[in-house]
Amino acid sequence: MIIELKESAKASASDLAEKVKAFHINYQDKAYLITGSALKEVPQDLEAHAANFWIFANDIQLASKKFQQEKRSVNFGNVTIGGKSNHTILIGGPCSVESEEQLRGAAELLVGMGLSTLRGGAYKPRTSPYSFQGMGLEGLQLLAKMRQDYGLNVITEARDATHIAQIIEHTDIIQVGAKAMYDQGILRACAKTQKPVLIKRGFGTTLQEFVQAAEFVLSGGNPNVVLCERGIRTFETGTRFTLDLCGVAWLQEHTNLPIILDPSHAMGYAYGVNPLARACVAMGIDGLLIEAHPNPKVAKSDASQQLDYPAFKQLHADIQKVAQSVGYKIV
Ligand code: PEP
Ligand code: MN
Repeated sequence: MIIELKESAKASASDLAEKVKAFHINYQDKAYLITGSALKEVPQDLEAHAANFWIFANDIQLASKKFQQEKRSVNFGNVTIGGKSNHTILIGGPCSVESEEQLRGAAELLVGMGLSTLRGGAYKPRTSPYSFQGMGLEGLQLLAKMRQDYGLNVITEARDATHIAQIIEHTDIIQVGAKAMYDQGILRACAKTQKPVLIKRGFGTTLQEFVQAAEFVLSGGNPNVVLCERGIRTFETGTRFTLDLCGVAWLQEHTNLPIILDPSHAMGYAYGVNPLARACVAMGIDGLLIEAHPNPKVAKSDASQQLDYPAFKQLHADIQKVAQSVGYKIV
């Protein structure tokens, strides 16, 4: 719970601590977590500042605009998104890391286009246990190599809380996937680091539940959270999922978190990714996540939706114009 004391509130900090088991106080741009009678880091003169505080009653707190009106600024390696940056980061790369040759080709593609962030799954959360499960640690080591050789920021998914330490060591951004976003072991492990965390929306997840997942990381001590809309399941079967742009507008209105969109997983087919990407960028977003593969037909996962490299370059050219028209820059 976040508590702001209104001028009329007579309760002192210790009175409040007795009434509730745990709460946050927003004071001088810092959130103070108070549990029971142990008041950690709470300023001694809190009562003197009582007029500056408010009481929040719902479950969206640290992520809310009410807590912090300005969008959070999050450093993805050496690129800043959110805040006042007006950057739309174009994250590109394969669904799965498959080989050094494949990943190096993707890294060279991005560097050649002046882009900054490479994606690639090493621990893949597949729907079937008989599908390719990812290269594991070897995949992370290849991502680390690309980071070193090309100066790229790299992002990869944690399928399990036990992966977090390895991911922190080898990469710059932790991705929590659509299937893993309810896993509190992963969320709590992400809260214990300061690495940026990109949380993807589950395909049956309400907006409230989505933001609550972010609250686990934020309230646990990591302020560097970014949300990723990647499509939800509807009655429609013609496309893989339905990209929820209404939901994006809702998140932009109610939360202070940077938002990245993933039209690749939403559409499920390469042909729709470019037009969707243009629509996404028109909303003034902080990033796009696009899967690309040197030969999508033989990709070990998500073959139908990955763009080949000419199509990825075309997408980059097309979204630049849209980004410019809404005052954003593709990085
Ligand atoms: C991915 O990014 O390759 C992925 C598995 O995405 P999602 O968790 O959105 O399905
Ligand atoms: Mn994928």
